[in-house]
Amino acid sequence: MTFTHDTEVALKTLAAFINTGIGTRPDRADGLLTTGDLDDFLAEQRFSGPRTRTAGELRAVRHLRTRLQRLWTADEEQVADGVNQLLRNARALPRVVRHDGWSWHLHCTSAAAPLEDRMATEAAMALADALRGGELDRLRACASPDCSAVLLDLTRNRSKRYCDTGNCANREHVRSYRTRQATRQKPAG
Ligand SMILES: [Zn+2]
Ligand SMILES: [Zn+2]
Repeated sequence: MTFTHDTEVALKTLAAFINTGIGTRPDRADGLLTTGDLDDFLAEQRFSGPRTRTAGELRAVRHLRTRLQRLWTADEEQVADGVNQLLRNARALPRVVRHDGWSWHLHCTSAAAPLEDRMATEAAMALADALRGGELDRLRACASPDCSAVLLDLTRNRSKRYCDTGNCANREHVRSYRTRQATRQKPAG
């Protein structure tokens, strides 16, 4: 197993969070435009705890998303700095907890801390785990030139190249097939 279960869950949530920003909806809109969008995202990710449901909360979460998007493909030093900043800003104080059917994992804020701080510390701890384990190269950008999504590669041989947000693997497969066909159909000589 590459990551502990809670780290894997947190990294998947983080990738999904970042990918709300790239317009994968049918209408190509940002996936976190309203507090209702945020409700849906948090429910989908089973992210519990208190909310204010204010415009300020949404703004803070969207700001956090931009910071985390940069960190996803950053180098080791940048990830270390970013993680430390996120933990410092949220005044992180780790404790082990167990709740809502999740087994033991770390929380770094009180249950009453603002949503953006709870999301920030969860992401920061997962990034710290990937950094410590030498697994940052599993956090990648999608290889499709038409796509700005991120992906988490959990394959044994680190072979995942395309995101899961749309149709990237399929599209690139068709593209390379057509290229091969075109090459083959050129007259010899
Ligand atoms: Zn938890
Ligand atoms: Zn993609």
